[in-house]
Amino acid sequence: MARREILEYPDSRLRLPAEPVDTFDDELSRLAGDLFDTMYAAKAIGLSAPQVDVRSQVLVMDLSVDGTAPQVYVNPEILSSTRPGLVEESCASLPGVVGTVVRATELRVRAHDLDGAAFERDLSAMEAVCLQHEMDHLEGTLFVDRLSIFRRLRIRAAAAAAARRRRRAA
Ligand code: ZN
Repeated sequence: MARREILEYPDSRLRLPAEPVDTFDDELSRLAGDLFDTMYAAKAIGLSAPQVDVRSQVLVMDLSVDGTAPQVYVNPEILSSTRPGLVEESCASLPGVVGTVVRATELRVRAHDLDGAAFERDLSAMEAVCLQHEMDHLEGTLFVDRLSIFRRLRIRAAAAAAARRRRRAA
């Protein structure tokens, strides 16, 4: 296994959508191993294949503090999601950027493992948030895209509150 270079924003390759995996072979296992090595070296909790310039629907996560809970998701799809909340995120492809985005905090995901076996899993809290962040990468979406939407909403809410204050004062 080896570390790979992590593409950084605004590299246009981060915007390319990933393709579904249809061959579950040694190359796929090697990719997953490299993703883990690269993720742990970057002290990240998740990493997707597009971030290392591979356009395959593969992502890895490990939310343990000591690297003992590796998870691999191939061709993930979210079956249901609920309980949206505001969460603070960062990204190995955007060093130094932290932002608050809206994410579901409970979801059910369907995916394949490295042998091609399908599984379903319920995720909550940071695990659910991390999965959504990494799945965004598979579609070429970065969390700053969602950040700008959130900021627009905040600006709109602030404007509405200011209008209410003006009405009360009038
Ligand atoms: Zn990211």
